[in-house]
Amino acid sequence: MERRSALSGQALTWADGVTRVAVLTGAGISTDSGIPDYRGPDGVWTRDPAKERMFRIETFRADRGAREQFWRTYAGHAAWSAQPNAAHRALADLERRVGGMRILTQNIDGLHQKAGSTPRKVLELHGSMREVVCVACKRRTPSADTIARVNAGETDPHCLSCGGILKLATVLFGENLDPTTLATAVKVARSCQVMLAIGSSLQVEPVASLCGLAVSAGASLVVVNRDPTPYDELAVEVVREPIGTAVPRLAAMFATTARSALAGG
Ligand code: ZN
Repeated sequence: MERRSALSGQALTWADGVTRVAVLTGAGISTDSGIPDYRGPDGVWTRDPAKERMFRIETFRADRGAREQFWRTYAGHAAWSAQPNAAHRALADLERRVGGMRILTQNIDGLHQKAGSTPRKVLELHGSMREVVCVACKRRTPSADTIARVNAGETDPHCLSCGGILKLATVLFGENLDPTTLATAVKVARSCQVMLAIGSSLQVEPVASLCGLAVSAGASLVVVNRDPTPYDELAVEVVREPIGTAVPRLAAMFATTARSALAGG
């Protein structure tokens, strides 16, 4: 699908002249920040498949042992002290150059915002670990308060208002995504010119299907992931190099475009 510049006749890449970019990110973008992914060689579920069950809402509601394991795991999670890496920073920088950019992330770690991405331009499709929600009364409180209770010895903290079960404000298996966030993500996917899918195995729906939506609406899909994904065949480019070097390189392609557009008036 080669395009040519009307002015110079030169071949254009998928980045040229693009002003609306959707960036879909998964766990792979945060592994350089010391946060393990789920399905990779050193992934949480690869190392211990039994852990996947504590990420299911029905298990979490019914099984005190699963909740205790969950809070033990999260109290010591690398994400609390993790810092953004080169890929997060390159995307934050890209947002300042490409006005119509949105990040659709499966991650709950908040590292895009920490890197400088505008919070309202980051859609956290699977929620955030910054907050805890009561399953019964839906009250939200900062996670730090609950983690402090866990660290002080509470193994299964409950809501201080109503006594209900507390969980992180993240989407567990068996739970629906926030409908407003998902609807916005669908709109972004349908209206972008380029979708970069970075560090996601693209196996979890409905997020993965955003790639298909973008392509059907005419966008170029670029997949950056170590392993093959179900959407590679739809992509104009599939990048296997490490995310830490691939993302700054891809982001720079848009920069070159912006500079040449300026140079050309
Ligand atoms: Zn409550």
